[in-house]
Amino acid sequence: MAAPGKLSTFRLPPLPTIREIIKLFRLQAVKQLSQNFLLDLRLTDKIVRKAGDLTNAYVYEVGPGPGGITRSILNANVAKLLVVEKDTRFIPGLQMLSDAAPGKLRIVHGDVLTFKIEKAFPANLKRPWEDVTYQDTLRSCMVLIVFLSCVTSLEYIEPPSVHIIGNLPFSVSTPLIIKWLENISCRNGPFTYGRTQMTLTFQKEVAERLTASTGSKQRSRLSVMAQYLCGVQHVFTIPGRAFVPKPQVDVGVVHFTPLRQPKIEQPFKLVEKVVQNTFQFRRKRCYRGLGMLFPEAQRVESTGRLLRLADVDPTLRPSQLSLSHFKSLCDVYRMMCDEDPHLFAYNFREELKQSKSNTQEDEDEDDEETHAL
Ligand code: SAM
Repeated sequence: MAAPGKLSTFRLPPLPTIREIIKLFRLQAVKQLSQNFLLDLRLTDKIVRKAGDLTNAYVYEVGPGPGGITRSILNANVAKLLVVEKDTRFIPGLQMLSDAAPGKLRIVHGDVLTFKIEKAFPANLKRPWEDVTYQDTLRSCMVLIVFLSCVTSLEYIEPPSVHIIGNLPFSVSTPLIIKWLENISCRNGPFTYGRTQMTLTFQKEVAERLTASTGSKQRSRLSVMAQYLCGVQHVFTIPGRAFVPKPQVDVGVVHFTPLRQPKIEQPFKLVEKVVQNTFQFRRKRCYRGLGMLFPEAQRVESTGRLLRLADVDPTLRPSQLSLSHFKSLCDVYRMMCDEDPHLFAYNFREELKQSKSNTQEDEDEDDEETHAL
């Protein structure tokens, strides 16, 4: 590898435009699959720049389609790019890119919801979770390294890093980010490599929810779940008109960096349950939703105890609860679950269903009695 200053920069050779690729391979967007393509390479370059410095990085692109973002990633001097695309029609166009970037691009025909990226990159890329990110290291050491390697002519070995980038249909990106947040919490899946950063697109409203601060109108379940595990930034908005065909909505590009230390140190499913219950009555005061964590017979008493021990004002609305409120609520709820081993399995919806079917049975019995009379 070349020393700093002599780093060879890879550029793709001249290629047909994305519009020409779409024509050449007859890649009309399938509306049912919510396919909306980015043809403007200045925009795809901007998405890739927002992912950070990708020099020598291993990148996983989800849903490359006709390959606009793929080209920008390849031009960012990455070590390897792996793309996973579900629709076979795009494979020949991607193959053309692979031929233009020998040894850099691997194409997988598959589904990102089931693809196991943790097996796809070399195991030696794994870095301790506590490691500072490549950008952190780079910022603090670059000057020193450049100086030393210039003086000694030593080769500068950049630490490899792993990034995920993608513009997926909204129906896929939201379930996928929830799955990946759980993977972050368990440090598995794409996060077996360490604190893999993600740059992904969402419907603008979802991007706003992901990044909403305490007290804001968009504050939701997604805000808390994302922000307790990651630094989340809505880096820019792409107007719907930039896509072909134009979607109904604008698109937000969101950058996620997993936190070294999550802000709530409890199992993902427990945090999810507390947050989900809290936000189910989003306009009501928080004690209403939190109460649903407990069976009816003990609801008033246990909710009071939870809020008292967590030191949370019961009259706050769900959107007014900060991450530290949620941390206290999760910690106290965990303690209550440890005291009562049946508590975590309690689901008020099942109780509701049960009581509805009991009422139905009572009514049926009444009907039978009426008939008998
Ligand atoms: N990234 C391209 C761009 O920005 O122009 C295409 C974007 S289009 C919104 C989404 C792409 O993701 C399509 O190519 C679609 O076939 C692909 N896709 C959708 N669901 C997928 C899945 N579950 N796994 C892999 N690819 C998927």
